Amino acid sequence: MSEQVQENAPRGGMTVSDQVAIEINGMNKWYGQFHVLRDIDLTVYEGERIVICGPSGSGKSTLIRCINALEEHQQGSIVVDGTRLTSDLKNIDKIRSEVGMCFQHFNLFPHLTILENCTLAPIWVRKIPKKEAIETAMHYLEKVKIPDQANKYPGQLSGGQQQRVAIARSLCMRPRIMLFDEPTSALDPEMIKEVLDTMIELAEEGMTMLCVTHEMGFARQVANRVIFMADGQIVEQNEPEEFFNNPQSDRTQQFLSQIL
Ligand code: ADP
Ligand code: MG
Repeated sequence: MSEQVQENAPRGGMTVSDQVAIEINGMNKWYGQFHVLRDIDLTVYEGERIVICGPSGSGKSTLIRCINALEEHQQGSIVVDGTRLTSDLKNIDKIRSEVGMCFQHFNLFPHLTILENCTLAPIWVRKIPKKEAIETAMHYLEKVKIPDQANKYPGQLSGGQQQRVAIARSLCMRPRIMLFDEPTSALDPEMIKEVLDTMIELAEEGMTMLCVTHEMGFARQVANRVIFMADGQIVEQNEPEEFFNNPQSDRTQQFLSQIL
């Protein structure tokens, strides 16, 4: 990591480097006629923890999905870790191997055990020997504090446990960047904390993270930057303290007054 550190970045030992992880320039996306993302410019540095919030339908999920090519963009550029996202499948594979993703619905394979869920892609996509894939999977299942569930099936676990498995499964691919799309919004309240705790730990270890979430306590504790989106645009962004205490635009103020 570089010695040069951004001014407002370090919080609780979490540092941000001057190395760019994601660079988005003039990006626009349409779903048919519908202009869903407008002139998105965003630079994410390694080690940043960015929280993205905004009203439903503002394009948060679409933005996150464009970053690992689950959705195509039509204008502008997205560069992830030096690789420009084009329709070239080689580039898409490279970017997906560096970017992990966790969704609201955990998307675990129901007919595979927890351990098999975590070793499937490493073995078949990354061609990692089975023994090593199992060791790695157990390492991350320990990290998310459920190694004892390794031989169970997803349906036998609570929602919070399943989401932690989904995080462990992503980590088994050794991503450099993690994207989260409302990872706690399908969970019962008592399970939200255990998932947020896992994400906090990941942040403390220096993972570059973009998290779509309305968990504003998490944003205050972990984020070095909060981005507010509305109508497909980045309306405002700031460090959490400023963002919450001194929101600039009417849209942001209105949004915050509804959720805080
Ligand atoms: P958010 O995550 O902020 O709620 P989304 O990115 O899911 O917003 O959606 C932004 C807008 O794009 C919404 O109006 C939604 O209805 C629309 N949209 C999302 N996915 C599709 C799709 N596959 N086809 C057409 N419209 C879509
Ligand atoms: Mg969404």
